[in-house]
Amino acid sequence: MSDGVVDFESAVVYAIPMRTRFRGITVREGMLIPGPDGWGEFCPFPEYDDREAAAWLATAVEQATAGWPEPVRDRVPVNCIVPAVGPERAREIVAASGCRTAKVKVADHPYSLHEDLERVAAVRDALGPTGAVRVDANGLWDVETAVTRIREIDRAAGGLEYAEQPCRTVEELAEVRKRVDVRIAADESIRRAEDPLRVAVAGAADVAVLKCTPLGGVRRALAVAEAAGLPCLVSSALETSVGLAAQVALAGALPHLDFACGLDTLSLLTGDVVTEPLRPVNGSLPVPRHAPAPDQDLLDRYRHPDPERTDWWRRRLARVAALLP
Ligand SMILES: [Mg+2]
Repeated sequence: MSDGVVDFESAVVYAIPMRTRFRGITVREGMLIPGPDGWGEFCPFPEYDDREAAAWLATAVEQATAGWPEPVRDRVPVNCIVPAVGPERAREIVAASGCRTAKVKVADHPYSLHEDLERVAAVRDALGPTGAVRVDANGLWDVETAVTRIREIDRAAGGLEYAEQPCRTVEELAEVRKRVDVRIAADESIRRAEDPLRVAVAGAADVAVLKCTPLGGVRRALAVAEAAGLPCLVSSALETSVGLAAQVALAGALPHLDFACGLDTLSLLTGDVVTEPLRPVNGSLPVPRHAPAPDQDLLDRYRHPDPERTDWWRRRLARVAALLP
């Protein structure tokens, strides 16, 4: 099938192993789709239903047919990612990254507090007093735990830039935000276009983490950011450089950008489909004007080896494409 503009027939299904397990997955899968204005990437996570996946496809179609709005900056600062590792490793990751902002995973398990405190202290030590330390609990705390732990971690970190998604629900975020002095950022609470507004109205966050992919494209995400009226930053959905380029384009076009973005995520994959991957230099990424085109040899290398899985993706693409306006 084809809509006459994007060449769905020629889409390539890829599989790239992850460096470490992330979001429960060990291999990142998706599709690369050619169009008149470049390539788009369609990589909704396997558990997402077709309606949710339609926004991801809209993002791919936007970049393959319409390009992106003009950027207002040339480069976008990014944060490094410090997973649930020991303090020595945390220090090494920060020092090697060249980033001035570190996002530190906390709440990895119910008894993680001591490890969390050691990890953030090591990160602060590596960044020095002028760096920014943020933590991400991925919604794993209840309100009481969040309030006490954020206070302790804030002290150990010598001041947190913000705490991301301390609890699962918007109501819980609002409650925690009333009780701590640290800024609260909403990430998992924002997956659909109406969510940032809901978060803002509930007083649930000081910062919104946007991903253009699930919001339906760069233009749509810019409109969502404006409607929400919250300071925004951009984070990736674990795309290859093709889809990541759209996220960087969004970060480049946001009228205000006061926080480093979560776009240094290619490091989580063992490979990429382009010859010049979107990897940060000295803690920032250049804002691309067009999506990079995949390299034929790399496409061949990462083409999905399983015919059944390839069929699954092709059927999914056909169903989801039928949902687009
Ligand atoms: Mg997060």
